[in-house]
Parts: sequence; structure tokens; C-alpha cells
Amino acid sequence: MDFTVPERVQTILEMVRDFMKREVFPLEPTLRHKSFAELVPELRERRRKVQQMGLFAPHIPEEQGGAGLSLSEFAFLSEELGKSPLGHYVFNCQAPDVGNMEILMLHGTDAQKERFLEPLVRGEIRSCFTMTEPEFAGSNPVWMGTTARKEGDEWVINGHKWFASSVDGAAFAICMAVTAPEAQSSYMGSSMIIVPTDTPGFEHICNISVMGDRGSDYASHAEVSYQQCRVPLANLLGGEGMGFAIAQERLGPGRIHHCMRWIGICERAFDMMCSYAATRELAPGKPLGTRQTIQNWIAESRAEINAARLSVLHAAWKIDAEGAYAAREEISLIKFMVAGVLQRVLDRAIQTHGALGMTDDTPLAYWYAHERAARIYDGPDEVHKTVVARRILRGHGLKLKG
Ligand SMILES: Cc1cc2nc3c(=O)[nH]c(=O)nc-3n(C[C@H](O)[C@H](O)[C@H](O)COP(=O)(O)OP(=O)(O)OC[C@H]3O[C@@H](n4cnc5c(N)ncnc54)[C@H](O)[C@@H]3O)c2cc1C
Repeated sequence: MDFTVPERVQTILEMVRDFMKREVFPLEPTLRHKSFAELVPELRERRRKVQQMGLFAPHIPEEQGGAGLSLSEFAFLSEELGKSPLGHYVFNCQAPDVGNMEILMLHGTDAQKERFLEPLVRGEIRSCFTMTEPEFAGSNPVWMGTTARKEGDEWVINGHKWFASSVDGAAFAICMAVTAPEAQSSYMGSSMIIVPTDTPGFEHICNISVMGDRGSDYASHAEVSYQQCRVPLANLLGGEGMGFAIAQERLGPGRIHHCMRWIGICERAFDMMCSYAATRELAPGKPLGTRQTIQNWIAESRAEINAARLSVLHAAWKIDAEGAYAAREEISLIKFMVAGVLQRVLDRAIQTHGALGMTDDTPLAYWYAHERAARIYDGPDEVHKTVVARRILRGHGLKLKG
């Protein structure tokens, strides 16, 4: 493994660091004190600038309109963009669009790519991904109540979803639905279907209030219902019964994106913690940083962030080299490990800032509220720990079912 940052990427990172400081960080107070929706005109203008820099949709191949970075290269960029809650959106590589673009690129038909992928890559539309349901445990990805049955040349979808991010203003949803309840393997029972959100029977019921924030526009999580919702059979993605397999494939790179974004948050919080510790005086001439407890937090955070970054880069390198299936242990490992580091670093940074850390004058409290979910979405910690431990124990000869 070679973790040297390639020269081309180094140049990009320097350009991006400068852009983030000048153009993106100054927008954050509006997000914290008002809403995402209020920022849309300014964000649109920033997105135009990123298009001119040639870095819009950086993860998409150049021939399909993106900047053509590999997963490992994009990982470095994702860290820089993660330093602001607005970074990924400004560069058009925000979840869930980033994952939906990857699915469409790999599994979309030419017609689907033209209608849904191309405008997504150009940033003209947004999308959402509806899989989780209030009535079924989302940790079990093959157990759900939403069905899609064939009638003539259409799918008829019925079901109830929630926690679908960014439905508010999305042009289309990718819906995970059971299409073959009788399938021998439950892993082959569901499919992904594209549903334009203006289709009769698709209802955006509401944005869910999460940690006191109902969100708006892209920055929101919604409850959705499908009632006799009809779309053409041609809206199937990647073949009948392929839903689970595509979801797994999508989550591999998705976890690299998330983890590097979290490391970006850690780095900015760490930087703030150190600056504050160096300047905030407990008494004349006695800055916080002279206290051993604070020094311990700084040393522990530095060690944890470094270990987290190396683990994620290793997983990205393995996905690039051998594919997501071969790297599933590494992917599960970083998912719970980095989410934990994120939580601890943010907590220490807030504690160091005292009351100031609780205000919305810094991004710390915003992240503390909005990133708690990191330990739940894309598989809760406990599920990933089970995946890692079972593989290790099998290597030691323990016989485990499933
Ligand atoms: C902010 C946010 C954004 C999201 N965005 C989307 C989205 O865009 N689209 C979408 O479809 N979904 C989305 N989700 C849903 C998310 O993927 C699910 O919440 C997740 O899969 C867990 O499912 P659940 O909430 O039903 O929890 P459950 O499956 O009910 O699990 C509850 C708890 O049980 C424990 N648990 C579960 N399994 C095990 C096990 N095997 N061993 C031990 N303990 C276990 C865990 O602690 C878990 O947190 C989002 C969630 C959040 C919080």
C-alpha cells in the first residue's frame, strides 16, 4: 500500500481548501441560525464556480460529466469537503445523490441514464433513496413491507417508508420493494425501482423532526408513502431480485465517502479544540492547554483520527484493488470505528469550549446533533461489529449459521 497523496490530487486539495475557506465556511451561520432552504440561491452560485473549476461530481468518470477521481482519490477530497456541512453539496457529491449516481452508472439502462443520471450529474435535479420502513427493522435489509407487483407494462408499488433523506425537492426516488415474495432466498426477493416524485400515488408525507430540527430542502429526512403508485416496467434498476445485491454494492464506496467526511469533521473540530486550548485563559497567563486533561484529549484525538484515516484509506485501496465484496470486513470495521471516533472527538471539542461549545456560534453543536446518526444509518454499530467478529471467529474454526 502506498498512501502518498498523488500530485494531481495534492493540487486539487490545495485549490479546494482555499475555496472552502473563502466560499463555503462563510455560509455556515445561515445554515445553523436559519435553514438550508435560505441558502439555496447562494449555494447555486457556489456550485457554478465548482463547475468552472472542473470538480463538480468529482467521483463520476469524465466521459459521464464528472471529474473522474478514483475511490481512493475521492476519499482525500471527501475529507476536505467534510470540514463543512455544506461541502459535499457544493461539489455535488452529497448523499444520497452520490450513491444513486453510482447505482445508475453501474446498473442504469441508456434511457435511465439519459433521463435521471445526466441531470443529476449536472446538478439540475436531486434524488432520494427510500428503503427503511417504520414497521420493519431497517437493520434487516431483506425484511420489508413495501411491494411492487407487475400489472400490464407497469409496476404497482404500495408501501410506507421513513427516514428517506432529501425527499424534500427531489425529482425522483429509488424505491426498494419486494417483487418476489416467494423467492427461495430472501436475498433475491426485492428490487430497486425508479419513481419520479410527481408520480400519482407517491406522497411526501412530512419532514421528520430529528434532534429538534425538521430540516428543509436537501437537508431533511422524510416520511413517504406509495399508494397504488404506477411506473413503467422499464424503471426497474439492474434486474428483478437484484435489490439487495445492488444495495450492498452501493454501500461499499458509500461508507468510504461517509467515513472520510466524518474525518473531515474531526479535523476541523480538533483544530478548533487546539486553538481554543491555546488561547482561552483559565487565569491570567494560564491557558486551558496547560492542563493535563486537555492535553490528554488532544493526544487521544490525534491518535484516533490518524488511525481512523489510515483504516479508511486501507479499505478504499482494497475496494479499488479487489472490489467491495473482498473488502467487506474492512468496510464494516471502519463504519463503526470512525463513527465512534467522530463522536468522541466532537464531545471533547465541545467540552473544551465550555458553554461556547453548546451555542450555534460554532459548528460543533450542529455536528453533535446531526452526526449522532452516524452510528445508526448505513447499518448500526452492532450489526457491523457482528460482521467483523463473525468473520474473524470463522477463521478460528467457530461454526456460525448465516
Ligand atoms: C439521519 C438518518 C438518515 C437516514 N437516511 C436514510 C435514507 O436516505 N434512506 C433510507 O432508506 N434509510 C435511511 N435511514 C435509515 C437507516 O438506514 C436505519 O435507521 C438503519 O438501517 C437502522 O434501522 P432501524 O432504524 O429500523 O433500526 P432497527 O433495525 O430497528 O434497530 C434498532 C437498534 O437495534 C440494534 N440492533 C440492530 N440489529 C442488531 C444486531 N444484529 N445485534 C445487536 N443489536 C442490533 C441497534 O442498536 C439498532 O440501532 C436514515 C437514518 C438516519 C438516522
